[in-house]
Formats: sequence, C-alpha cells, structure tokens
Amino acid sequence: QGIQFMLADMGMKLEAARQLTYAAAGKSERGDADLTYFGAAAKCFASDAAMQITTDAVQLLGGYGYTKDFPLERMMRDAKITQIYEGTNQVQRIVMARQLLQG
Ligand SMILES: Cc1cc2nc3c(=O)[nH]c(=O)nc-3n(C[C@H](O)[C@H](O)[C@H](O)COP(=O)(O)OP(=O)(O)OC[C@H]3O[C@@H](n4cnc5c(N)ncnc54)[C@H](O)[C@@H]3O)c2cc1C
Repeated sequence: QGIQFMLADMGMKLEAARQLTYAAAGKSERGDADLTYFGAAAKCFASDAAMQITTDAVQLLGGYGYTKDFPLERMMRDAKITQIYEGTNQVQRIVMARQLLQG
C-alpha cells in the first residue's frame, strides 16, 4: 500500500504539471498579461515535479533504478538539469514573487 501511495502521488504531480504547462502555453498563444507569472510557474512546477517523480521512481526500483542498465537514472539526471537551465527555479521563484507583489 505504501508503494501505491507513492505511485498515486507521482501520477497526480505529473498531471498537475502537465495541466499548468498547457495553461501557460494557452496564455502564450493568446499573449495574456499574466503570461510571465504562468510561464515561470509552469517551468518551476513541472521541473520540480520531474525531479520528485524520477527520484521516487528510482526509490521504487531500488538498486536497479540507480544502475545504468536501465533508463531511469538518465531520466533522473535529465530531470535535474530542467531545474537549472532556462532560468533556475530559484530565479523563476523571484520572477513569480515580483509578479505577485505587483498585484
Ligand atoms: C546541460 C546544460 C545546458 C545548457 N544550455 C544552455 C543554453 O542552451 N543556452 C544558454 O544560454 N545557457 C545554457 N546553459 C546554462 C544555464 O542556463 C545556466 O547553467 C543556468 O542559467 C544557471 O547559471 P549558472 O550555472 O551560472 O549558475 P549560477 O548563476 O552561478 O547559480 C548557482 C546557483 O545559485 C542560485 N542563485 C543564483 N542567483 C540567485 C539568487 N539571486 N537567489 C537565489 N538563488 C540564486 C541558482 O539558482 C543556482 O542554483 C546550460 C547549462 C547546462 C548545465
């Protein structure tokens, strides 16, 4: 049951990240005024979710998840770089906070 809880959380975070990304993409298409906030939020949330999900996936598979025999360790490393490039997630949080403080 503990494993099922992890799987449910992983699926939930993945779908939330996907929906926020689609919402930001829609705002980009329309040129909405709050695109800056949503773009930063989607980048930050989706990359944090990817890191959490792939880390949990490695935990689920135990030692096999960590080895290079399976693609998961690569997915976890790839998730990590998404938190760093295209504006680190710390910087995205600065961007979001500025938008929120502007009202
Ligand atoms: C695989 C890879 C591909 C890349 N591709 C590209 C590319 O195609 N084009 C491109 O232009 N760049 C690219 N980069 C560079 C990437 O955008 C930078 O690595 C990224 O912006 C972080 O900059 P930095 O490495 O200089 O870290 P630093 O700016 O030195 O930051 C180090 C850490 O401090 C944190 N930090 C910095 N300032 C603050 C602050 N004010 N408040 C809180 N925390 C802060 C950062 O979030 C980070 O965690 C790539 C990097 C990698 C690793």
